Amino acid sequence: MPATAPSLTREQRASLEAALDARQRELRAELASKLRNQDDPRLVGLRNRLEDTDDWAVADAMAAQDITLVSRDLAELAKVEAALARTVEGSYGECADCGNPIPYARLAAYPAARRCVACQDDAEARERLRR
Ligand SMILES: [Zn+2]
Repeated sequence: MPATAPSLTREQRASLEAALDARQRELRAELASKLRNQDDPRLVGLRNRLEDTDDWAVADAMAAQDITLVSRDLAELAKVEAALARTVEGSYGECADCGNPIPYARLAAYPAARRCVACQDDAEARERLRR
């Protein structure tokens, strides 16, 4: 059993939250510009919804759909938003599977990470088996 990583310091937490925030803004801007000038009805519908409301949780639902032009951005936005929600709720930085603190180095590289490296590897292996 490897030693568990220390929990995040207040400074680390603040810098990760800032990174998530910045990424969220970037993705929103990117999506807005990709969606401008689109006449695919699905994309127009999405654009209207995004303009109508600040509820970007809608991205979650849309990410499940196969809108190739924007689906990658939407999927990433959904992950970033889920991570931001965890910062509010207090579970940010804990592995979703084993509950141990996720090492800062991993979060610094990938602030939206939900799992520690070991659990992520397991999850990906399971995912591969399913296909
Ligand atoms: Zn874990």
